[in-house]
Amino acid sequence: MKRPFKEFSAGNHSTATTFAALVLVALVPAVCVLWFMILAMRNERLAVQDRLTDVYLTHVSSLQRQLTAFWQGRQTALSSARNDSPAELFAAVVRSNLADSVVVYDRSGKVAYSALGSIETPAEEKGDWALARELEFQKTNYLAAAEAYGRVAQANQDAHAKARARQAQAGCLLKAGRKEEALARLTELAGDPGLRNAISAQSTLIVPNAQLLILKLVAGAEAGRADFSARRQQALDDLVKRLNDYTDADFPSSQRRFLMGEVTALAPQAAIFPTRAAEELAAEYLEHNPALPTEPRLQRAPIANVWRLPSADRTIVALFREDGLKKELATLIDSLALPDVRVTVLSPGEPFASSTPVAPQEAGEFLPGWRLGLSFKESDFFATLSARQTRFYLWTGLLVVLIIAMVALLVARYVAAQMRLARLKNELVSTVSHELKTPLASIRALVDTLAAGRFRDEQQLQEYLQLIAKENLRLCHLIENFLTFSRMDRGKQRFRFEALAPAAVVAAAVDALKKRLASAHCNFEVRVEPDLPLIRGDADALSTVLINLLDNACKYTGDEKRIGVRAFAEGRQVCFEVADNGIGLDRRDARKIFDRFYQVDQSLTRQRGGCGLGLSIVKFIVKAHAGTVEVQSEPGQGSTFRVKIPLAKSQPVPETNQPGEHL
Ligand code: ADP
Repeated sequence: MKRPFKEFSAGNHSTATTFAALVLVALVPAVCVLWFMILAMRNERLAVQDRLTDVYLTHVSSLQRQLTAFWQGRQTALSSARNDSPAELFAAVVRSNLADSVVVYDRSGKVAYSALGSIETPAEEKGDWALARELEFQKTNYLAAAEAYGRVAQANQDAHAKARARQAQAGCLLKAGRKEEALARLTELAGDPGLRNAISAQSTLIVPNAQLLILKLVAGAEAGRADFSARRQQALDDLVKRLNDYTDADFPSSQRRFLMGEVTALAPQAAIFPTRAAEELAAEYLEHNPALPTEPRLQRAPIANVWRLPSADRTIVALFREDGLKKELATLIDSLALPDVRVTVLSPGEPFASSTPVAPQEAGEFLPGWRLGLSFKESDFFATLSARQTRFYLWTGLLVVLIIAMVALLVARYVAAQMRLARLKNELVSTVSHELKTPLASIRALVDTLAAGRFRDEQQLQEYLQLIAKENLRLCHLIENFLTFSRMDRGKQRFRFEALAPAAVVAAAVDALKKRLASAHCNFEVRVEPDLPLIRGDADALSTVLINLLDNACKYTGDEKRIGVRAFAEGRQVCFEVADNGIGLDRRDARKIFDRFYQVDQSLTRQRGGCGLGLSIVKFIVKAHAGTVEVQSEPGQGSTFRVKIPLAKSQPVPETNQPGEHL
């Protein structure tokens, strides 16, 4: 029957209860901490959201104010741009990028630009005019018609009539196949400063049209001719300059637009008209005959994706393309936005997909229907922000749980130690009382027998006395072990270290047990190497070690005992070896026998005396000597215990291990 300690079922039950209570004590606060932590983390996220929402709403209202201020500024800038003519105003606004285009009204609310130029009544056609027209319509003699127009031009003092006659003359020359002459007439016409503002019957300026014709005529093979190309260049330069010149109040905007398109097609490199897109936009806008807007705000124009804004004095309507407007607003807002936030400008009805809890906000009174959508540059900004705080809670919580776990562990270990101590004490009391009872009972019976004179002869008397002495020795040995254990347990065991001869230690132990070892059924052998170096140790304590080992060797061997003690040097140690041919130990027991009160087979120990303390005392003493103890054993094959004790200081290391000498 293998049993390390006596079973205490009630004790086991209380141990389980104690540990269950401990687990509960540790678990409940840990769970509470975790619960609070989760709550705190959730609240933190909401709190962060609320805080940030407040911050961003404040930011949005600041943006709204700034946008309003921006548009007010834009309106004022539009009004103050009102200087000379409507055409100049148009050009100034467009060139300064105040708007994509602009329509200028006069005080009475009529469109002043871009609109048709001033229409003059054409001069009355009479005399040669009629003849020339007649010849031209007959289509038979264009040359004669051209001559007739030439005469009209010569005779007429009116600039408009003169220019028209020249234009018609050039036309007839062309029809007659006289291209070169036609070109000469057109160049004359274009170069005459007096005819610069002459207007055709269709209310267009004649000279720019003549210049366009020159460009068209010299577009082909003739362009290679030096005189032609010079004329063409001259016409092109003049025309481009004039088209970009808005001080020329008489230039009808529709003609300007038309010519810009034509010239761009003919000479895309030279024709750069920064206001062309604005002209087109204004014209498109005016095609819808829009009423002058009353609201001083940005509103949709009747053209798709175009917005309009009247100036403060309502004499100018600025036009904005939606794309450009959004870009401009985005740039403005970007320069004002907070670092973590992206503000998207949303035109009316534009959807906004964002996980942000802040809904898009109005963009201000100047931009009715427009909204500002807030999103965060980091994908989940709230999560990131609250994650920082959450991480703090998490670590704090985990730390608290860890501390609780550690404290619980320490308490558990302390409780376990206390319980083990209590159990050891119970063991001790029961073992001591039992172990003392047996020899005392034997001695008492023997003494009673002797006292009653119940012995046959002197020899039997001696036998009884020897039995009494043996029981007494066992008692002394037991008590000695108890006392040593008690001192060990209380930390009161003191050692007197000195340089000792290993042979003396062996001799003392053998002497203490000589009677048992010298019995007839015991083959006992001692081998101690000669000239062993001195060891550092307490003579009594080391003898106790060997006595305990030898005592066990006697106890745990059968009837035919073979026991040996050896002492030999091993490096800077001396090894004491106690070997027997006893019952041996399996590997598991060999590991545990040095524990207090551990007994492999308690019934056997009871028979032979012992309380499971001998080897724990051996281990304690050897450890105090900075030595080691080990056992090598096989069940049924006997055991060998080896105790190694360090040499005393200044002892030379012996060179070789000689075979031992018999004591
Ligand atoms: P005990 O007083 O019971 O002998 P020990 O501490 O001296 O206590 O020994 C512990 C146990 O180790 C013993 O109960 C015994 O089972 C086992 N033991 C000790 N020495 C030997 C040995 N030489 N051979 C076999 N078993 C041994």
